[in-house]
Amino acid sequence: MVDTLRSGWVTTGPKAKRFEEAFGAFLGDPELHCIAVNSATAGLHLALEALGIGPGDEVITTTHTFTATAEVVRYLGADVKLVDINPATLNIDPAAIEAAITPRTKCIIPVHYAGLAADMDAILAIASQHGLKVVEDAAHALPTTYKGQLVGTLNSDVTVFSFYANKTITTGEGGMLVTRNPEVAARAKVMRLHGINRDAFDRFTAKVPSWYYEIVAPGYKYNLTDIAAAMGLHQLGRATAFQRKREELAAQYAQALAGLPLVLPPQPAAGDMHSWHLYVVRLADGARLQRDAFIETLFAEGIGCSVHYIPLHQHPYWRERYALQAADFPHSQHAYERMLSLPLYTRMTVDDVQRVAAAARRALLG
Ligand SMILES: *Cc1c(COP(=O)(O)O)cnc(C)c1O
Repeated sequence: MVDTLRSGWVTTGPKAKRFEEAFGAFLGDPELHCIAVNSATAGLHLALEALGIGPGDEVITTTHTFTATAEVVRYLGADVKLVDINPATLNIDPAAIEAAITPRTKCIIPVHYAGLAADMDAILAIASQHGLKVVEDAAHALPTTYKGQLVGTLNSDVTVFSFYANKTITTGEGGMLVTRNPEVAARAKVMRLHGINRDAFDRFTAKVPSWYYEIVAPGYKYNLTDIAAAMGLHQLGRATAFQRKREELAAQYAQALAGLPLVLPPQPAAGDMHSWHLYVVRLADGARLQRDAFIETLFAEGIGCSVHYIPLHQHPYWRERYALQAADFPHSQHAYERMLSLPLYTRMTVDDVQRVAAAARRALLG
């Protein structure tokens, strides 16, 4: 980052390009186009725009997510069809996707919730059977594998990662759009920066005077700065070690919380990698505390928890826009009422995990 500041070129340029190349190398697939953007929200918006989603279209996604997953559909004037989750995985339920398909459906956006891969074989099969696009919201999924393959290299149309402050790697704000489709990549690159038909950086570093450019579309301002990309390069170098640390902490939690009236997070399939972006537990039926009181009790002991997320069907905008009711999403609603995310961060120690578990034990068993 200091090198970037000293270089005099602080916005999108050589570091963003290096970050994109390094990201492709990390995913290990030379066919991938990686396009750095200033948020995952921007990446999801660009992905849907490049796939031609627009007014009259419907996009299916999970209610059990952050609003960014769905709001981008509305940016383009298309409609969102929210569906329920599989209660065992907290990921979008393929059967619910199938049931929600109409002649207007164009795309599915699965979310790899908490860092556990969604049921991609089923989702991709439904998509190919009905001629739908698939855009993976991989904001939680760096690195996550599905049947041994890294998320980002599966057979969807586009995958989008987030480098927001609390994600597994961060650039402060940032994201990466990944696709194998050269037309989608070209369109996303143009729309990332004002609809200009060539990169500003290419223009300013060309060997010949090169002031000319053309605007070919009303684009957006979604480029990633070199300052952020420099951070990303160093964070990416640590992504594997971060994942190992988070996986260790998750295993320690599982041991320390055993025997409490808690449903522990779903585990990945044998041999697969979970990013452990979030450690989401659910209070078991019959636990003596309800979720809110449990969070308050832990808070009083200096332990901060959160809820990821208030499902979209509970928010006024989504509820009113589509006349949604909690009863339409029984599994998400059931999970929401009982779930909380325990602290999980790479500088956490075994003692920290023990302290959280001890506080949870006192709260739940006395
Ligand atoms: C964080 C997050 C996003 C948005 O990421 P930004 O980089 O903050 O735009 C999208 N979807 C999910 C599931 C997220 O958790």
